[in-house]
Amino acid sequence: MQLKFHRSGGKNRPTTIEFRSGTGTRVFIDLGNHGEPGSGGTDIPLTVPGLTAPDPEGGRTGSALFISHLHLDHSGRLEDALPEVPVFCGPSTWKFMDVLNEHRIGRLEKDLGRGGPTRAGGDTLEGRLRRRKALAAVKFFEGLKPIRFDDIEIRPVMTDHSCPDTYMFLVREGEELALVSGDFMDHGLKRAQAEYFMGDLAKDAHWLVCSPVFGRGGKGESAPKGPFAPERDVEESVYRIMKEKPLTLAICSSTGIDRIHSLVRANGRAGRDRLFLADRFQKEILDIASGFRSPDRGMLPYGFSGKLRLLEGNEAEKDFMAWKERGFLMLVRGGRFFSPYLERFLGVPGGDAGEEGAVLIYSRWEGYRKTGPLGFGEGDEVSLQVPKDRIRFAHTGGHASPEALRRFADRFCPEAKLVPIECSNAGELVKVFPEKGRVRKLEPGEYLLLNG
Ligand SMILES: [Zn+2]
Repeated sequence: MQLKFHRSGGKNRPTTIEFRSGTGTRVFIDLGNHGEPGSGGTDIPLTVPGLTAPDPEGGRTGSALFISHLHLDHSGRLEDALPEVPVFCGPSTWKFMDVLNEHRIGRLEKDLGRGGPTRAGGDTLEGRLRRRKALAAVKFFEGLKPIRFDDIEIRPVMTDHSCPDTYMFLVREGEELALVSGDFMDHGLKRAQAEYFMGDLAKDAHWLVCSPVFGRGGKGESAPKGPFAPERDVEESVYRIMKEKPLTLAICSSTGIDRIHSLVRANGRAGRDRLFLADRFQKEILDIASGFRSPDRGMLPYGFSGKLRLLEGNEAEKDFMAWKERGFLMLVRGGRFFSPYLERFLGVPGGDAGEEGAVLIYSRWEGYRKTGPLGFGEGDEVSLQVPKDRIRFAHTGGHASPEALRRFADRFCPEAKLVPIECSNAGELVKVFPEKGRVRKLEPGEYLLLNG
């Protein structure tokens, strides 16, 4: 079996991972980009023979593309796969991707109706419609259930990450076994379940294809390198903020389900009467999360729906007064819809002072804020409009640190050699895995023979 990865543009991230068997069967894992689907990121040409285009050397077309989770750097270009390559993902991942895509289509069509541009933030209606068509053909896999394509068998194993329905993949040809660890983390809410699922499935793995993240712990670029704080710590710091400041507006990724879970739990602990407020789009996302059930084992108390009160955008001043009395958590994003709430409670720089006891909890990687809007679709410009003294930070990373990867490898695949697919990090990884020959550097486009 051979391993190769492909990527586009200057970003040092893989866009897809390819396995090829001795007889030429090809299976791909993830097809992502770093912008929105249909946006600038997708303008960067990406040609993957056998996946996005026929192989000029006559190699076989891929038997399948597996998507590990909904994040765009893993799923953002699935519509570029040739129609004859079946795409597989987890059922909740599909629902999330569908809702996000339909939301964008709705917005673009609305803009178009107003005579506005067909692009919004680099997003195109055409790209979104192409994605809709591709999503309609996606098939689901089931956690732990192997799927065979000729001589390659692939088994998804649910893992811990900032969104539910995230998978690692065990890829096997004969005796040769590789584990693609994807975006797993070991400091999230699903760690125990993820370890239970993995069990001894990977103990004979010869290869661990991984992408650890370096130096992005805690509060952004200035944070010390090393292990990330557990997600539970974020809940504690948010809880402390809420105890002190009853009117809490929060920015986090709208699909950062585990973070929203921490915020909502802290909100409930900070006061029984406190409200949880969010808009219709966020509710749709949380409804999917609430319906998420692991097929393998009872998992996670994602029970948001019952607690959520919908923001309608037409509340009267007396509603605001009632919210003030009870205290609240409000999930906000960029865009016109949230501006009246932000201004009403947090004030504007150099203008209206807002409400006493109101703060904005910035619960994302701080680097996003420093660099301003980056097309991540979550509206970081919000925090730029809010007076600085109103902002509090609470965050932890969503990926495994190198130390976490070491613990994982020692426990679940102690014999495996590591192939980091962010190859600029290979040097750093050698510090954590200093054994001779343990880390195998692989450049994009280069084939690595996994046998022997
Ligand atoms: Zn991810």
